[in-house]
Amino acid sequence: MNNKLLQLFIRQSGRCFYCDGDTWLFGAGESKDAIRKRLGVPLAGNGSKKALRYRRATIEHLHRKVDGGSDKMENLVMACALCNSRRGELPVNIHLAATQDNREGEK
Ligand SMILES: [Zn+2]
Repeated sequence: MNNKLLQLFIRQSGRCFYCDGDTWLFGAGESKDAIRKRLGVPLAGNGSKKALRYRRATIEHLHRKVDGGSDKMENLVMACALCNSRRGELPVNIHLAATQDNREGEK
């Protein structure tokens, strides 16, 4: 179990740093069924595995590791796997602005 990820998950109440969406994490005391139910992911079917994969909690480095960012808690946030993978090489402020623009577009 990744202790830092669990700490971040608790600190952010299970919500992604970028999109504010609900995420899930094994080891946070929730069964797979409870996770599916909470996130509204169907038990089976095409989109099911993908939806779960996208919403998985991951560690995100605000200052990217390749740019010399540290593994200390102050440089870490928790983001869903989708936001994390979409960030790519973008600086955190630009990615954050982009994800928030998307969110407003959905309303
Ligand atoms: Zn997200």
